[in-house]
Amino acid sequence: MLEVEKLNAFYGPAQALFDVSLQVRAGEFVVLQGLNGAGKSTLLKALMGLEVTTRGRISYQAQAGRTDIQRWETHIRARAGLGYVAEDRRLFTGLTVRENLQVAAGRDAQAQEARVLDLFPVLKTMLRRPAAHMSGGEQQMLAIARTLMTGPRLLLLDEPCEGIAPVLVESIRDALLTLKAGGMPMLVAEQNQLLAAVADRLIVLVAGKVRGS
Ligand code: ATP
Repeated sequence: MLEVEKLNAFYGPAQALFDVSLQVRAGEFVVLQGLNGAGKSTLLKALMGLEVTTRGRISYQAQAGRTDIQRWETHIRARAGLGYVAEDRRLFTGLTVRENLQVAAGRDAQAQEARVLDLFPVLKTMLRRPAAHMSGGEQQMLAIARTLMTGPRLLLLDEPCEGIAPVLVESIRDALLTLKAGGMPMLVAEQNQLLAAVADRLIVLVAGKVRGS
């Protein structure tokens, strides 16, 4: 599904990733671990073509076949099926829950909305609430739900459980397991052991390198 080969990433002159190689196979749930500053966020940004310059190969199984997307613009990667949720969630805090979902909707918006609300039932009870008036965990669910509204084929999540109440971490874990059962491949940067415990595979980054490679 996604194959990264010798990916190097730079913030200006400063290198943050060094020859990172990894794979996410079809239907696989991979958790990316590492200390703060190890490069988890940088790797997800590099996969999306955000903020960093990169060298290396990002081979993605798009609908048109396998292709190197390393030079593609971010919105083209998104259109090809990469669904990304940033650490800061980037919600429209002045809009309601429903409006946040609708701005992301593609074709078949009603059916999509019904599916994401089944995945995160708590959002059903707050459709008219401004996103600003939600807890951090509820906002995180909304951010994932909003990305799902675009119909991604691969999910990239940056620390979805960080700073979130344990009961909501369980809800997020369960939602991700439901997505996995539906065949959604996922690469999730996350330190929380509740997620690591259910991952198919862990990849550990240490100072910008994959440990053990
Ligand atoms: P965290 O859990 O704190 O987000 P992380 O594993 O996601 O940690 P990154 O944020 O990817 O780590 O940071 C990797 C390295 O890149 C660090 O050395 C960090 O200082 C550096 N870095 C991150 N963002 C920038 C930036 N905008 N400009 C320059 N250097 C950066």
